[in-house]
Amino acid sequence: MKRILVTGGAGFIGSHLCKRLLDEGNEVISLDNYFTGQKKNIVSLMDNPYFEVVRHDVTSPYFVEVDEIYNLACPASPIHYQYNPIKTVKTSVMGAINMLGLAKRVRAKVLQASTSEVYGDPQVHPQKEDYWGHVNPIGQRSCYDEGKRVSETLFMNYHTQNNVRIKIIRIFNTYGPNMHPHDGRVVSNFIVQALKGQDITVYGDGQQTRSFQYVDDLVNGMMKMMATGDDFLGPVNIGNPGEFTILELAEKVIDMTGSKSKIIYQPLPSDDPMQRKPDISLAKEKLNWEPKIQLEDGLKKTIAYFDGLLKENPNI
Ligand code: NAD
Ligand code: UDP
Repeated sequence: MKRILVTGGAGFIGSHLCKRLLDEGNEVISLDNYFTGQKKNIVSLMDNPYFEVVRHDVTSPYFVEVDEIYNLACPASPIHYQYNPIKTVKTSVMGAINMLGLAKRVRAKVLQASTSEVYGDPQVHPQKEDYWGHVNPIGQRSCYDEGKRVSETLFMNYHTQNNVRIKIIRIFNTYGPNMHPHDGRVVSNFIVQALKGQDITVYGDGQQTRSFQYVDDLVNGMMKMMATGDDFLGPVNIGNPGEFTILELAEKVIDMTGSKSKIIYQPLPSDDPMQRKPDISLAKEKLNWEPKIQLEDGLKKTIAYFDGLLKENPNI
């Protein structure tokens, strides 16, 4: 039995990861400050005696004997990471330093949840890991993008300088149950709007693209990456290469919910990437991983989740 620390364990992805790690017979510690995560996401795990919950902020050091660390703590939705940009940078940078310091002390493997945002508004399509990106260092997304880029730098430096056993994955847009209904990300926004019969808010002309990955595929990829030998560090893209315009997503959600909602157009936020699609050949080769869940199947499960939430509380 391994003891595994998951920072951001009460968040959307973290809660799914904690469940899978427990299901596979590990001891799991969720560390979270509940900025964007919710206890509700992990309450069903709390009966398990091998699950521990810690309220803590990763910007302060934390000491515990563990075998593995998944570092997920960081707000991921633009409205949340832009709410307090200085704190977002601190969470990425100091959180990485604190988790790398812990990994160094206890000789744990540590995995960083990096992001496709390190590619910024990419000028290369699809994005491969050797593309260095196109990020505005002073734009409104920079607190997140540059914070995650520095985290990758720190991970590499702790490895080369201190031999820390690191892993870096670059996660592309992921969706599924346990997303916060007011998270502001496109999949949750469109589903909640459609189910409530509200206008669907497409930013810009809706021709920008994203590649949407269902959370179960991501969790498989994360665990496969953690299980690789010490000679493979990443970074490796983990995403679904299926590429859709935001308008196509809006139409699909309206269709699948049978909603009467209308599409309305709102201004495109600045520095919003125009296209995004992962090249996953490295993940296929090194992890023998590729996503299995098609957008429609994933949306079906996610719509059912939000439908259940709205039945419990129509005012969300
Ligand atoms: P989320 O906001 O649901 O989860 C983040 C969790 O981190 C929350 O529970 C939050 O309370 C916690 N947190 C934030 N700041 C913290 C701090 N200072 N100390 C302790 N806990 C803190 O987002 P998510 O979608 O689950 O994302 C998880 C990770 O995956 C993030 O690091 C994110 O950057 C990365 N990621 C996600 C996506 C995606 O599409 N969901 C894409 C790329 C990368
Ligand atoms: N978006 C949109 N309407 C919304 C929320 C988002 O049109 O209600 C757009 C957003 O401008 C971006 C895309 O959908 O082009 C994905 O946004 P999200 O915040 O989910 O993720 P990110 O931009 O970080 O990839």
